[in-house]
Amino acid sequence: MRLPERIVLATNNPKKLAELRRMLEAGGVGVEVLGLSDLPRYPEPAETERTFEGNAFLKATAAAAETGLVAVADDSGLEVAELNGMPGVRSARWAGPACDDEDNNALLLAQLDGVPAERRTARFVCALAMVTPDGERRVWHGRMPGRIAEAPTGDGGFGYDPLFLPAGLDVSSAELTPAEKDSISHRGIAVSAFVSYLAELES
Ligand code: IMP
Repeated sequence: MRLPERIVLATNNPKKLAELRRMLEAGGVGVEVLGLSDLPRYPEPAETERTFEGNAFLKATAAAAETGLVAVADDSGLEVAELNGMPGVRSARWAGPACDDEDNNALLLAQLDGVPAERRTARFVCALAMVTPDGERRVWHGRMPGRIAEAPTGDGGFGYDPLFLPAGLDVSSAELTPAEKDSISHRGIAVSAFVSYLAELES
């Protein structure tokens, strides 16, 4: 593939868009990134796959077909060892269809009630998929290992961050600055691999 002039990140999340633009700029890659809100609306696919990679490809495939642009999409979540890898692809709605982050965190704590520290291991996982209009497909993965705390701390980040203690740190990921989190996070690692891939195309 040649370096495209513009790509679409199949998301409505302005933070993900800003993060990719920031990392491309830092990597010296001159590619314009559009989000879904910059383009005519189309019916977005339901995330029906059982893997992060499968859901990321669903979103990127639809975006490439609908826009005619090189499309990337990510899917991410939390895998908890004691819960056999759940909530996994169900992370966003773990406590039910209308739940919020607080409900999800309360349910996770209840499910791990009485589980000792050494069995509270978990990891955040991200798959970032790219699909081109002529059908080329690639995927990059990122993981952040850690464990689930006994109680929430910190008010940064989102989702399960207040309960997640990244390996080797004694603070939660909600206590890291955005730059600190990007440098070790599942999404930061996957996005940075994608940026390196584009940088190679440019050189
Ligand atoms: P999405 O792939 O960004 O939609 O994330 C799916 C869900 O996984 C989110 O709603 C969060 O519950 C959880 N999640 C993914 N990444 C993170 C993170 O970096 N911190 C906290 N929660 C996350």
